[in-house]
Amino acid sequence: MKKKDLTPTQKLEQELLYQPKAAADAAPEAAEAAQEFCKGYMEFLNEGKTEREATAWCEQLLLQKGYQPFCPGTNYPAGFKVYMVNRGKNILAATIGSQPIEQGFHLNIAHIDSPRLDLKPMPLYEDGELALLKTHYYGGIRKYQWAAIPLALHGVFCRPGGETVRFSVGEDEGDPVFCVTDLLPHLGAEQGDRKLNDGLKGEELNILVGGTPIPDEEAKERVKLFTMQLLHEKYGIVEKDFIRAEIEAVPAFKARDIGFDRSMIGAYGHDDRVDGYAALMAEVECKAPHYTTVCVLADKEEVGSDGVTGLQGDFTFHFLRQLCAGQNADWITAFRASKCLSADVAAAFDPTFASAYEKRNSAFLGKGITVIKYTGARGKSGTNDAPAELVSYLVDILDENKVVWQTGELGKVDQGGGGTVAKFVANRNIDTIDIGVPVLSMHAPFEVVSKNDVYMAYRAFKAFNEALR
Ligand code: MN
Ligand code: MN
Repeated sequence: MKKKDLTPTQKLEQELLYQPKAAADAAPEAAEAAQEFCKGYMEFLNEGKTEREATAWCEQLLLQKGYQPFCPGTNYPAGFKVYMVNRGKNILAATIGSQPIEQGFHLNIAHIDSPRLDLKPMPLYEDGELALLKTHYYGGIRKYQWAAIPLALHGVFCRPGGETVRFSVGEDEGDPVFCVTDLLPHLGAEQGDRKLNDGLKGEELNILVGGTPIPDEEAKERVKLFTMQLLHEKYGIVEKDFIRAEIEAVPAFKARDIGFDRSMIGAYGHDDRVDGYAALMAEVECKAPHYTTVCVLADKEEVGSDGVTGLQGDFTFHFLRQLCAGQNADWITAFRASKCLSADVAAAFDPTFASAYEKRNSAFLGKGITVIKYTGARGKSGTNDAPAELVSYLVDILDENKVVWQTGELGKVDQGGGGTVAKFVANRNIDTIDIGVPVLSMHAPFEVVSKNDVYMAYRAFKAFNEALR
């Protein structure tokens, strides 16, 4: 190909200035693979709308790919693949490296819980001849977005004696769905004067589930009783059993292509199943890594990572320590030598709301995986600020493997802020950096990502897993 003659200024521009390119320009050959990769991702989104369902889906995949349940105290040979499910809500998978484990792990961590409406312990009530469910929202949602859309109910009931019964209603074509109602515009003037964040208040997120009374006019709360009777017939539960249940209302629609060009995906739960899926695919394809690779799909990120299935808990670090123990390796040494990609979605620049962003330091849809040095709020409060050396290490690996990447931070300074699990890993003396797929409408019932970015996330995790340093 004949190269155009550049003027000295153009040469300087090319040599000195940096202009991140869209994946479509930087790696046009990857477009087809991205479309193909995202078919599997969309299936995962449809099959795993809760952390429990996502975990079950991942476990099936890991078993198909030859992973074995982790057995503490075992000295696994290089290339061996193990996994562990933590309380049915999150999962860890590892491939043993050829190097001694004391030389460190390569960790890819994402989360598989997403914002939603959880049922309260005593949810069912009747009012205005209707049966409704009280909810308590989970994670940072914009409440007004959750009214007047079809919702599905997913969850578990526990029976006396400890049996857990899974159920889901609203996903199959023939299923009924549910919804939160909103006021008609004709009567909405007073509500319209509320601030947007109060457009719908927490106690107004009530889910409509029935309208038929039990055929006995003497009975009290006839619609509630009829609904309870249906639930009893179908699941064998009584009202008290809601207390020992975990039921989540999630959008009932499936993942769809977006755009005339089908370059994007609209779906519930991209945050952060998108990085979770990409990291898991990179993990299952890892054959004989130099360093032991560990993929962690965590729970409870959206509510602060507390508890036995969150990253502030010990489950990941106990797993790592037990892997070390199997090789009689010192875990402190192994942690210090480890590196972690803390994967979570990035805020993509939204041209409709441009004033919330600082364009030079925003992630854009379609420009690849986002490398995020720090998160936090105000003066970088509550962040793991990755050292320059670690950023350098990562972008070298991405460049060497032709992974299209960009950088970005979460909106303008002092516009808001947020955090990820990165600090909970870094606090254990493990070098950690944030990375993730940019998302539009983050935390909305219908979030948007670019297929090229999803594919580049997978390529990034794969490059990190295969790295020799
Ligand atoms: Mn997230
Ligand atoms: Mn989130």
